[in-house]
Amino acid sequence: MRQRAVRDQQRLDSGAVSSPKDLESLQREITSLAKRQGDLEDIVLEVMERRESAQERVAELTERASAVQTKADDATARRDAAEAEIDREAASVGKERELVAGSVPADLLKLYEKLREQQGGVGAARLYQRKCEGCHIELNITEVNEVRAAAPDTVLRCENCRRILVRTSESGL
Ligand SMILES: [Zn+2]
Repeated sequence: MRQRAVRDQQRLDSGAVSSPKDLESLQREITSLAKRQGDLEDIVLEVMERRESAQERVAELTERASAVQTKADDATARRDAAEAEIDREAASVGKERELVAGSVPADLLKLYEKLREQQGGVGAARLYQRKCEGCHIELNITEVNEVRAAAPDTVLRCENCRRILVRTSESGL
C-alpha cells in the first residue's frame, strides 16, 4: 500500500498525468491511501501494546506459578521426611511392643487389649503416689490397704476406671 502511494506520488510529481480529472482522482487515491495507512498504523500500535501487556502478564504469572511450585515442592519434601520418620518410629515401637507382649501372659494381654479399646488407647496405668495415672483419682485408704496386701503378681485394677494398675517404687504404698 505504501509502495502504491509512493508510485502514485511519483506519477503526480513527474507531470506525466496532465488531465485534471486524472490528477484529481490520483490525488484522491493518495489521500485515501494515506488515511488507510494511518488507520493501519494505529491498529498495529494497539496490537503491539496489547501484546506487550500480555507478555508482562505471562511473565508475572510464570513467576507466581514458579513460586507456588517451589512452596509445594518444599511442603512435599517436608511431608515425605515426616512420613519416613513416623514409619521408622512406628517400626521401632512395634518391635519393642512385640518384645514386651511376648513376655506377658496371654490372658493378661487379652484383658489389657480389651481395656485399651474401652479406655481410649490406655489399658494400663501407673500407680503413682497413690493416684491412678489413667484417671488421676487417688486411691482411698481401703484400696491402698488392698494393694499393699496383694501378692506382687496379682493383677490390680483401678476401682474407678478399671484400668490395670502398675505398681512401682513410687506408688506411695
Ligand atoms: Zn483409674
